[in-house]
Amino acid sequence: RTKIVIVGGVGGGASAAARARRLDESADIRIFEKGPDVAFSNCSLPYYLSGVVPEAHSIVMRTPKQFKDQYNIDAEVNSEVTDINAPEKTIQVRNTQTAEIKNVSYDKLILSPGAKPILPKSIGGITNKNVFTIRNVVDIKKLQTYLTENKVKNVAVIGGGFIGLEVCENLVQAGKKVAVIEAADHVLGTIDDDFAQLVHKNLYDHGVQVILNDGLSEINDDRVILNSGKEILAQAVVMAIGVTPDVSLAQKAGCKLGETGAIAVDQHYETTVSDIYAIGDAIELTNRITRQKTRLALAFPAQMQARDAVDNMSGRPIQNKGVIGSQVIHLFDNNVASTGLTVAASQKNHIAYRFVTVIPQSKVGIMPGATPIFLKLIFGYPSGEILGAQAIGQSGVDKQIDIIATMITMHGNISDLTHLELCYSPWFSTAKNAVNIAGLVAENILNDEYRQVPISQVRELVETGAFIIDAREPDEYKAGHIKTSVNIPLSQFRQRLKEIPTDRSVYIHCQSSQRSYNMVRALNNLGYKNITNISGSYGELIQYE
Ligand code: FAD
Repeated sequence: RTKIVIVGGVGGGASAAARARRLDESADIRIFEKGPDVAFSNCSLPYYLSGVVPEAHSIVMRTPKQFKDQYNIDAEVNSEVTDINAPEKTIQVRNTQTAEIKNVSYDKLILSPGAKPILPKSIGGITNKNVFTIRNVVDIKKLQTYLTENKVKNVAVIGGGFIGLEVCENLVQAGKKVAVIEAADHVLGTIDDDFAQLVHKNLYDHGVQVILNDGLSEINDDRVILNSGKEILAQAVVMAIGVTPDVSLAQKAGCKLGETGAIAVDQHYETTVSDIYAIGDAIELTNRITRQKTRLALAFPAQMQARDAVDNMSGRPIQNKGVIGSQVIHLFDNNVASTGLTVAASQKNHIAYRFVTVIPQSKVGIMPGATPIFLKLIFGYPSGEILGAQAIGQSGVDKQIDIIATMITMHGNISDLTHLELCYSPWFSTAKNAVNIAGLVAENILNDEYRQVPISQVRELVETGAFIIDAREPDEYKAGHIKTSVNIPLSQFRQRLKEIPTDRSVYIHCQSSQRSYNMVRALNNLGYKNITNISGSYGELIQYE
């Protein structure tokens, strides 16, 4: 009987155990988990705060008894693995309730200890009882109890990553006044600045105070003080500034760490110590696009790595192909999804790129519930290799991003995207799906048929006195417009060509870049060489002003 021992019984660990059993009915499989629960849905934790998930115990998907009954797997909770003796192939386990210590031997060891929330010691009051992190069911119950017992009205969420924003959303739904404090100039590092403006607007619209370019300096009972000196009312603080891979046990076993500080593994998820495998948030990965080392704390990679590691150690060779980083979050009445590289990441990795922003409807405009999808597609230039995408909208954004994620995984090119034949009926999308449309605009850019600048450049254009045409209808223009813009609607421009200069650069914008795009193409066809589209929406622009 092969003795398979797994450290950590949640995202990666529980999946590894179940896979190991599916491959070998006779194996002796043991999970050691230091917390009181195994196999819980970390990703559902924030939804307990709002009552979307009404019972904390329902977050736990499988109990140790169920593991035993259904899979003949021994899942020992409250059992912290405190040491590994790699030459002797034993681990030391400490019962966190009784302090009892025992040694357990293994043939194959899988480490899935996850990542710990970062809690900088330099912040005054960081150990106060009103400071919380969210990693497991105990944490979320503790926060909820504190909020209720202390009748907390104001909460400061430190960090505008996906966990911070999900916590924020659920606290707002629970009636709390929430401030999100983010050290960068925008929330969600997985999307670019222009798209983050839409997220900021969504947060403001739901009463969230968003503070950017500022960090936490001190925590008091009823307020936090920021690096800028600003004081924010908060009787409770949720720290969500990121996670750090839990590598201490691996280091004790002599496993080497990679350049990102996470556990180094090979193409079979084996660490540098023989018969010790590692998976999940604790390991270092390769980004499939940049080939650079990276870390990615997400559930799908953890679960797939679990399966692949077990397959490898059982003689079914599976390659560790790396990751692209696909994710989606629900944020009030919008969803935000992304995959692959952002513009910022492309720049950082010195990859020549171009991008397009399109704002098609989620379904045919006359159908009930049609809403805009803001879609940004980033691609290599001049190769046309698809690098990444971001989407924001009330529906369908996960679908668009999943399509692009598939294309990236299959090394797809813009020309593949334009001709991707997808299902259509007015209920579901437009006949040319949003990703087809993005591909078509990208193709025009690759063919040098069309020029554009991002909406984020508008302020600079205004300051330098550029000639900007607003291609919307007069009533839209009257309701609000860029200060220096001239209103020449798409419906009138053919009669007003004399007003469009030929001796200087002309920039055109509208509500969704669609009318301006059509006007740019028409003017190009009429011989104008000086026309550039402003890619993005007037709605986004308001956020920049
Ligand atoms: P974990 O699931 O964290 O499991 C590690 C376990 O190991 C822990 O329970 C820990 O107690 C235990 N452990 C550590 N050291 C020891 C030791 N020495 N002995 C015994 N046990 C030990 N991902 C998504 O893709 N989508 C989402 O929407 C999403 N939402 C999330 C929301 C929240 C609030 C959180 C916290 C995470 C979310 N994630 C999400 C991330 C996802 O949950 C993780 O990427 C995934 O669980 C990683 O699996 P893992 O096994 O590496 O770590």
